[in-house]
Amino acid sequence: MPTIEAAFRLRVAFPLFVCSFVGIALACNDSPVRPHVVLISVDTLRADHVGAWGYERATTPTLDTLASRSVRFSNAISHASWTLPSHMSVMTSLRPSVHGVSTQRSLAPEAITLAETLKGVGYRTAAFVSWVYVGKSFGFGQGFDSFRTLIRPGRVEMGAGGGAHSARQIVDVVVDWLDHDPVDPLFLFVHLFDPHSDYDPPREYSEMFDPDYAGSLDGRFDTLTKFNRYLDAPAQDLPRRDLEHIEALYDAEIRYVDDQLARLLQALDEQLGLDNCLIVFTSDHGEEFMDHGSMEGHGWSLYEEVLHVPLLVKLPNAEWAGSVVTNPVGLIDIAPTILNWIGVDPPAAFEGTSLAGLIEGRDETHTPQYVLSENDRWNIKRRSIRGSRYKLIITEDTGVNTAGVPVRAGIELFDLREDAGEQHNLYEPEDPRSQALVSLLEKMSASPASPSNNPEVEISPEQTELLRSLGYVE
Ligand SMILES: [Zn+2]
Repeated sequence: MPTIEAAFRLRVAFPLFVCSFVGIALACNDSPVRPHVVLISVDTLRADHVGAWGYERATTPTLDTLASRSVRFSNAISHASWTLPSHMSVMTSLRPSVHGVSTQRSLAPEAITLAETLKGVGYRTAAFVSWVYVGKSFGFGQGFDSFRTLIRPGRVEMGAGGGAHSARQIVDVVVDWLDHDPVDPLFLFVHLFDPHSDYDPPREYSEMFDPDYAGSLDGRFDTLTKFNRYLDAPAQDLPRRDLEHIEALYDAEIRYVDDQLARLLQALDEQLGLDNCLIVFTSDHGEEFMDHGSMEGHGWSLYEEVLHVPLLVKLPNAEWAGSVVTNPVGLIDIAPTILNWIGVDPPAAFEGTSLAGLIEGRDETHTPQYVLSENDRWNIKRRSIRGSRYKLIITEDTGVNTAGVPVRAGIELFDLREDAGEQHNLYEPEDPRSQALVSLLEKMSASPASPSNNPEVEISPEQTELLRSLGYVE
């Protein structure tokens, strides 16, 4: 199996780098030599199941090696709890309530995307995605010269994400494309879906982390809904041994994707040279495994198991390799960081902040210190702010959710330093700290005028059926 250690060893220097990288556009402003930019998102990957984030199982040898060559952001936070708004926040550097994209509304044409901006400075832009909610129907194609959504037509049964192609198939397509379509410079977006439910890893991985399980529970979405308090109240208890098995299946999916990432990185090195690439690796959200008493996956809550995601920035020539930034950062910071690093001014509309200052140890340049996340789905409305120590979550009273389960209003305050699992709510209405954080959340979530005239989504009956099969639509 290819390893990226070998790939990294192959390249020792980028011969075109005669000027320092950060100042590249200034020092070489006649004809800037810009690196390839590669953005990789593995769906549904919670940070604490990645080795570089301290996980004890061997889920991510490839990512761990990549982390050693990257700047690792140990506290990266998603702005939404599910695929569509989270990925759109990455692409637009706008939080969900500002980009306005939902199951009903696609991206406003006047919104500016990372791909458009890179295309505007001479990049060839290409995307390979594996799920409807990262597809053209919602505006993700904006700015891409080439955009392929790799979903098996007409296939609605469970497995490999209920219709999404597996990571192996997608990497095959990307590798073939790289082989036949050399471009310079390139912005490549690759989205892999496998850790998303169903937890149904390929056969050779399925017993990797739990070979002794003798129970009967499988990792299908349909099987697990009865343990989700938002879909089936009161939810059933999930026996501990069965829970361990489900997590082992999830971990096996992660390991499978990680092995495919090794193939992708190998191909990138052969075709482009990893030292010539700025690679950003992240996920759109995590996954909940009874951390808060419910087998609810994602899309409902704003706890850390859902919002805390991996974020690696592998700079050209592996600059700042091995650095770790512990400040909380948001995924809307990715696009301005990429642009800043290649010497392009981020569009004024972007809400995120370049992380270049944090990478170079100038953390005073980074504001805000809290990351805002939003959940507005299935008639559950939540907002949270997450700082380096404290986190506040406000849930609105919406009566019942779309499954008819009551939703109670509430405010939760957690001290993540003392209570990383968010089990002890410290909120007190009269407590000055509680009051200050509520004020901060309200201030941070006061939206400027939305860019939106978000057009209505046009989605095929086939895709609607796919989404229904995974519980996304009724
Ligand atoms: Zn997702």
